[in-house]
Amino acid sequence: MSPDAVYDLAIIGGGPTGLTAAIYAARAALKTLVLEKSVPGGQISATMTVENYPGFPEITGAELGERFHEHARKFGAEIRTATVESLHWEGYVHIVTDGGETFARSALIATGASHRRLGVPGEATYYGRGVSNCATCDGFFYRDKDVVVVGGGDAAVEEGTFLTRFARKVTVIHRRDALRAQKILQQRAFDNPKMAFVWNSVVEEVLGDGERVTSVKVKNIITGEESVIPTDGVFVYVGMVPNTGFLKGILELDEQGFIKADCCYRTSMPGVFTAGDVRSGSWRQVIAVAAEGALAVREIEFYLAEEHLEEPDLLWARRRGSKGSMV
Ligand SMILES: Cc1cc2nc3c(=O)[nH]c(=O)nc-3n(C[C@H](O)[C@H](O)[C@H](O)COP(=O)(O)OP(=O)(O)OC[C@H]3O[C@@H](n4cnc5c(N)ncnc54)[C@H](O)[C@@H]3O)c2cc1C
Repeated sequence: MSPDAVYDLAIIGGGPTGLTAAIYAARAALKTLVLEKSVPGGQISATMTVENYPGFPEITGAELGERFHEHARKFGAEIRTATVESLHWEGYVHIVTDGGETFARSALIATGASHRRLGVPGEATYYGRGVSNCATCDGFFYRDKDVVVVGGGDAAVEEGTFLTRFARKVTVIHRRDALRAQKILQQRAFDNPKMAFVWNSVVEEVLGDGERVTSVKVKNIITGEESVIPTDGVFVYVGMVPNTGFLKGILELDEQGFIKADCCYRTSMPGVFTAGDVRSGSWRQVIAVAAEGALAVREIEFYLAEEHLEEPDLLWARRRGSKGSMV
């Protein structure tokens, strides 16, 4: 392996966390590689409007993602399309991708999270034929139609409100009797005459005619009563699952599969750090994960400065007074 082939930092995932880390690392003159399996920008690219990222009172998610991307490229981070399949510590980090292998003195895992599925009959059958997780991508197809949104958090309420631009009626089906979304989002939804709410209820089945979705079977979890709601589309926003399938048995994960890290973003593997939505305990908002990306790079710089020492962990512990515990 020639020294030129070794990156100072390999960042896995090109969402807001990974791209912010790339900006800070490249500006710190670290030889930086971002490995992204899809289009750089991450989850935020799929939402229509972002209005809580400072400096941008209103910006589309796609534009914000693209700005992060351009910013990282401007300072010289290399961004490569590749899916990471595994990684190992061999005195440096050995990363295996679908296209080959990469070596780096350190790695930052910023693979984020994906939408949780309902896991009910009919959902997979009609995925892409009425079932969706992306209002921005698919909302246009529901002009003057009826849709249901499943969930009660920020994403469900925000995307449901967005869907009223197209749909005749948007029915939010939520398993509790109150929304979890931020108050400002709730108020907008309650004020919107196109929105309706079905409380204390879960979707039990997605029904269709073999081609498209036609209705959902819903059960009230308090009364046990079942009903069928006719609909043309089902938008599912019931939480996120971490993109850590490739790390099982490799890194320490929490019960839900998020990566455990100490106070300095260090994982259970030497030289490997994590930040953003994929980190256990992260606050899943762009402003927070971007900050995590920057802070992680600061820790990585400390690590790289010390890695030539025989026992960097001990020196690290001495300097900080504590190794920090995994959260
Ligand atoms: C519908 C919706 C609306 C939202 N609205 C807002 C909002 O208004 N304001 C706000 O602050 N936040 C919002 N969020 C949350 C915000 O999008 C996330 O907190 C943020 O995108 C997390 O960034 P990340 O970089 O940690 O992860 P992600 O954005 O998930 O990026 C991770 C990247 O890693 C890549 N990846 C995954 N696995 C691999 C692999 N094995 N190899 C290579 N690459 C891989 C993925 O393709 C992805 O590009 C919203 C989220 C959703 C879903």
